[in-house]
Parts: sequence; structure tokens; C-alpha cells
Amino acid sequence: MYTGKVECLKCGTVFENEKMFEGCPQCKTDKFVSNVSPMYDYSNQDLFTNLKSNPEKSIFRYKELLPLKDEKKFISLSEGNTPTVKFDTLSRELGINLFAKDESRNPTWSQKDRLNAVLINKAKEIGAPGTVFATTGNNGASGAAYAAKAGMPCLILTVKKASASFKAFMQVYGAAVVALETYEDRWVLMEKCVNEFGWYPGTNFVDPLVGSNAWGNEGYKTIAYEIFEQMESLPDKFVVPISIGDGLFGIYKGFDDLKQLGLIEKIPQLISVENFGPLYNALSKNLDYIPEVPARESCAASMSIAKGAFQAMKAIKESKGEAVLIDSDEPIMKAQKDIAANEGLYCEPASASCLAAVRQLRDKNIIKEGESVVMLLTSTGVKDTVSTAKYLPEVPYINPDLGELTRSLKNSYGLSL
Ligand SMILES: [Zn+2]
Repeated sequence: MYTGKVECLKCGTVFENEKMFEGCPQCKTDKFVSNVSPMYDYSNQDLFTNLKSNPEKSIFRYKELLPLKDEKKFISLSEGNTPTVKFDTLSRELGINLFAKDESRNPTWSQKDRLNAVLINKAKEIGAPGTVFATTGNNGASGAAYAAKAGMPCLILTVKKASASFKAFMQVYGAAVVALETYEDRWVLMEKCVNEFGWYPGTNFVDPLVGSNAWGNEGYKTIAYEIFEQMESLPDKFVVPISIGDGLFGIYKGFDDLKQLGLIEKIPQLISVENFGPLYNALSKNLDYIPEVPARESCAASMSIAKGAFQAMKAIKESKGEAVLIDSDEPIMKAQKDIAANEGLYCEPASASCLAAVRQLRDKNIIKEGESVVMLLTSTGVKDTVSTAKYLPEVPYINPDLGELTRSLKNSYGLSL
């Protein structure tokens, strides 16, 4: 059960304050800030023994481990309960047991629905007049959908260069979407909306980065609970594409909850995947903070951030995991095609980077033969078919002539009838 208290993930100071959105003031420096994290009472917890008879299928199935007052009815879009599927062909290729947790089955087709389901209920619980996000993609659309369901105003501060399809995706749920020039410009306005108007924050708005709303982040824990329920035994390794790293930490904390409850002995090794690599860089240099790294154009928009937050570092260190950098588009887009063409699942490039990371770690024998590995496929490729098309042959245009068909199939697809 949630105690109403939070603790600093770095120094452990406990606070009784449900509006700590800027991290722990005790250990903050000019280049480091740690998020706080809700605390629970794990005694007399019979949640997991009663799950089989629990008819609730959404993430509120695990309400005892979410930081909310026990409502009769939570605002929900039936998020969670996403399938964990075995990738048979890729498992054979790699000599491992490879699984995917398919988060594209969520209501707005991404894992962000877990965060926003908790977030919007918390915003309502504390009586916030609206909710505000600084985002360019999946999180904004998800936040807007949940705000719509809750009947709560939603403001999204995005950037000019955000894709037109994502701007529409966020607007269609009724959110007020406003674009600014830089990521940092958004945080200036968001800070004012939060501190002057009391709007509930759905994302980070401070620099150095603290990460997303600590209460909303708890929604990610349900990924770990579902894996525990869905798999015969826990995987050896769990591969997660990250931006700031809130999802990675949430999964770590979910497994840690299961450990606190005496249900598991060991947390799977968590593996982060990045395209710019702030976390990879910090861990390689054994730093205790995460400096900014150079950014570049990338096919994987959902993970394109050059800064990271401390909780991701904590999750990797405490699970004795690994940070992987995939520093070019080619292995990611090859992985997207391989997952779709071998396993029938079309995931977004950030998700596909998991397979590129698994291949890299298999080559280094860090993932060993026969090990069991879960990849978190965060969202669907349908959100950006333009990037995918760049790596596919142009669709040939032909006359109804068998000779032309035969030649086209051979030229474009290497296929003989
Ligand atoms: Zn602290």
C-alpha cells in the first residue's frame, strides 16, 4: 500500500509532499538532480496470491502497488495486459530464447499509457485544474487521450520540428498544442504553468533532467508485474529502449517490488538502449552524473535525447545490467525489417533498436547461448511509415504482363515464381 511518502533515489531522504516535481533539494547540484520515488508498505501483501481471481485486466489490477487512493473506479482506457510473445525465428538465429513485450497494444499504441493512466488519476486526486506536457511524441498523445477521458484540460508544449503527424495525433484528443523553438524553451513555460497555475506536470521541465512525474512513472512498474504473471520464469535479461530512462527505472522498481514481497529472488539484468548515449557515456566513464552528449539526426525519434536522468543509471547499476549504444540508423532499420518480416510485428525504430542491441551483446557473448531475453517494444511502426519506406524497395509499377511481373519480382524482391 502507498504510504503517501516519497524518498530520494540518491540520498534516501524521505519527504511527505505530493508535489515534488523538481527532484530532491538535498542532493541537487548544478549538474545533478535525483528524482523522488513513492514508498510502499509491503507487509501483509496478498495482492499476487489473489490475482488469478481478479477480473480487472487493466494496470489497476495492481492498484495496491500504485501511488493512488483506492478509488472504486479509476479513469482508465484499458491500458496494460499487453502480450509477451516468443520470437521463434529470431530465437533460432541468435541461439537464445527471445521474447517481446508488445506495448503497441496499448490504447494510444505505446507504453506511455501506463504512465498517463496513473498520472491522470493522481492529477484528479489532488485537484489539479489541468495537465501540461513538454513532449514531441508518444507521451503527448497518450497524455492528451487520458486528459480527454478525465475531462481535464491538457496543454502540450512541443517543438516546431515535431512531425506533422504527431502534432495532429496530439491535437485530435482535444489537447491545446503549442510549438516552441527548442526543448529548453518548453521547460521555461511549463515550469510557470506548474508553479503558478498548479497544472499537473506529465513530463520533465527542469535542467539538469529529473525525469517525468514520479507518481506517473509508477505506472511502468506494471510491465514487470505482467512479465511475472505471463512468463513461466523471469528472463535473464530485459532490454529497454530509453530516452530519459523513466520506463527503464519503472521496470526495475516493479521487479524490486516483487523482491520486497518475497515473490522473486533476483531482478533480471536490465539493458538500456540509446541512439545518442548519454547514459552509455556516463557509465563507460564511471561518472556519478549524466552529462549531455552530442545529438544528431536519427530515425528513432522516441529515444533522441542527448541528456539522461539519474534513475536510469541506478536501474542499470543495481540490476548489474548494461548500457548499449546503437550510434547509426542502419542496424535499427534492419532490425525493424527483421522483426516485421520474421515475426509479424511492426514496431517503431526505437523499439527495433532492442534487437540491434541484442545482436551486439550476443556478438560479445554478454548475452550467452540459451539465455532468456525480453525486449520491450514500446510502440508501433505505423506512427512513422516514412522512415521505414526509406529502407524498402520502391513498389514497382507494372502492366498486366507476366513477363513484367517476373522481372519486377526478381529485381525488387529477389523472388522467383
Ligand atoms: Zn537526495
